[in-house]
Amino acid sequence: MGDHRSTEILAAVHRGRGGSPVLEKLTLAAPGPEEVRVTVDACAICHSDLMFIDGGWAIDFPVVFGHEISGRVAEIGEAVTDLARGTTVVVSLIATCGQCHACQQGHDVACENPPASSSLTDANNRTVTKGLNTGGFAEQVVVHRSQVVAVPPEMPATSASLLGCGVLTGVGAARNTANIQPGETVAVVGCGGVGMGVIQGAQLAGASTIVAIDPQADKRSLALTMGATHTADPLNQDPAEAISQVTGGRLADHVLLATAAPAALNSALALLAPMGALTLVGMPADGVTLTIDPSALAGYNQRILGSKMGTARLNRDIPSLVADYFAGRLKLDQLVSSTYPLEDLEQALDEVRSGSALRTVIVFNQPEA
Ligand SMILES: [Zn+2]
Ligand SMILES: [Zn+2]
Repeated sequence: MGDHRSTEILAAVHRGRGGSPVLEKLTLAAPGPEEVRVTVDACAICHSDLMFIDGGWAIDFPVVFGHEISGRVAEIGEAVTDLARGTTVVVSLIATCGQCHACQQGHDVACENPPASSSLTDANNRTVTKGLNTGGFAEQVVVHRSQVVAVPPEMPATSASLLGCGVLTGVGAARNTANIQPGETVAVVGCGGVGMGVIQGAQLAGASTIVAIDPQADKRSLALTMGATHTADPLNQDPAEAISQVTGGRLADHVLLATAAPAALNSALALLAPMGALTLVGMPADGVTLTIDPSALAGYNQRILGSKMGTARLNRDIPSLVADYFAGRLKLDQLVSSTYPLEDLEQALDEVRSGSALRTVIVFNQPEA
């Protein structure tokens, strides 16, 4: 299909750490045999984008960031047999080789040999990094087939984009990584976009008590509409006491940390009941460490779990999230707090930096590819 030529696209390029994005014409290499070219309809802004842009994590500049994408298939590589031009899709950063030990075990987020996508070059023929293997702050992307999942065309593009990272990560942390069971008590620390996914995942898993902990009053209120049964303001009350009050003196069976704030990390174990599990969902900056008391951890038979992308498997989890959305069990539309065109990316990034937004999404208005 198609003549497999490179494509000229408009993209927002970050040329250095802390810099502002500039719109440039770039050359997107034609899709390889196992790749797909996608016309981007929406790309949400993730805190991981800001971690790289603001220097919390290292990356080779120049970069096109953006990795939570919904769009339409524009072209498929020769070896792609199960997608067609025009199919509406979600694109994620999770790429799998399908061959390695992790892939064989179904541990997609731990693929040992994730396929890197084809190249992106600027007007001077310099390579531009595709941020997180995607590069979605651009009119089009070329990604590996494993990163793409079809979704129903009637889904709003902005809501669908959230399935590519934030909601996948939040719901997956609750259902896959923590494996929350019916009747359990769950504390969610941090009620941003990912935290709202964790809360919804805990509710979907049947948790009986869900305490949403966040210093912002508007986020605590919204958390109650997402499935939280109680809230706590960590600036004005001891969250451990707040949990204890609503459980008749017990602490949480699960604490899920959906923030990268170091202070929250170090106080999270104090919220955990014996036999409980602390799940680390948010990714702090390089160099942040956690101090634990190993004898207390062993003595209380507790666990600390890392959760990368909610231990997601795209082919299993995205269709399941779509079904939850259409059945009214998963709120996505309500998470989108604002939209911006690509020209206003800097303003949109500032909104996410400020912490006031829930989910900020870059939207495109492109004709059929
Ligand atoms: Zn992300
Ligand atoms: Zn693999």
